[in-house]
Amino acid sequence: MREKIKILGVAIDNVSTKEAIEITEELIATSNKSCKLVVAPNTEFIMKAQKDEEFFQILNTADLATPDSVGVMIGGRLQKKRFKERIPGQTYFREILKYGEKKGWTFYVLGGKQEVLELAIRNLQTIFPKLNIVGYHEGYFVKDSEEEVVRQINEKAPNVLFVAMGAPLQEKWIAKHRKELQVDIAAGQGGTLDYESGRVKRAPRFVQNLCLEWLWRLILQPSRIVRMIVLPVYLVKICITKDITKGKFDK
Ligand code: UDP
Repeated sequence: MREKIKILGVAIDNVSTKEAIEITEELIATSNKSCKLVVAPNTEFIMKAQKDEEFFQILNTADLATPDSVGVMIGGRLQKKRFKERIPGQTYFREILKYGEKKGWTFYVLGGKQEVLELAIRNLQTIFPKLNIVGYHEGYFVKDSEEEVVRQINEKAPNVLFVAMGAPLQEKWIAKHRKELQVDIAAGQGGTLDYESGRVKRAPRFVQNLCLEWLWRLILQPSRIVRMIVLPVYLVKICITKDITKGKFDK
């Protein structure tokens, strides 16, 4: 049985990267194109989910929820529990690509601006020469073309659909189309394509190890300051909340 740790009502799997890949493989093997959902909750997700019931419910229906951020780790510690590992979104992305390349899985990537997406795909094909990316589509499109995007994805019926449009948009998009999407799993990937395109630089390993990746992102993208206000608010909230496992929309 997989252990789940709840933080403000959001259930997150206590898994290592290796286990996350094994679970993904199992999901793909048993899915039969039923669009299993993979999410990567971080501090921003948990705080957004306190205000957005739809997002809250989607996160809690995920088939795999990997612990993405230091804030999540702290949330575990405050319950005297310890997440085995932090799994940053891009780490999961790379590991699944690496494993999927060996296994011959098919991938579809949805998200980002056209030129960023194309750059990212090109870079990924260089890193993983045998990677089978069967299609991609930019993440900026009007509501009217949604069905066309779904049609294009279904035409390829990939094993893995990565949706990199930022949260909660990507999770809501997957949830909205989950019944029609002919994919084995769909995983929200946030800003991963920005990194993979080389447009945004990932923090060096020592900065990641110091748990300061958020500060690195802030320096590179100062416009994120408004979004980051939520980090100290989250820390205060989880420290003063009597039962940190409970969320606003718990039934
Ligand atoms: N994006 C998109 N469609 C949209 C809005 C955003 O494809 O309608 C992309 C955007 O280009 C960026 C990513 O989604 O690559 C969002 O990145 P962000 O850093 O906000 O995601 P996070 O990792 O913080 O969830």
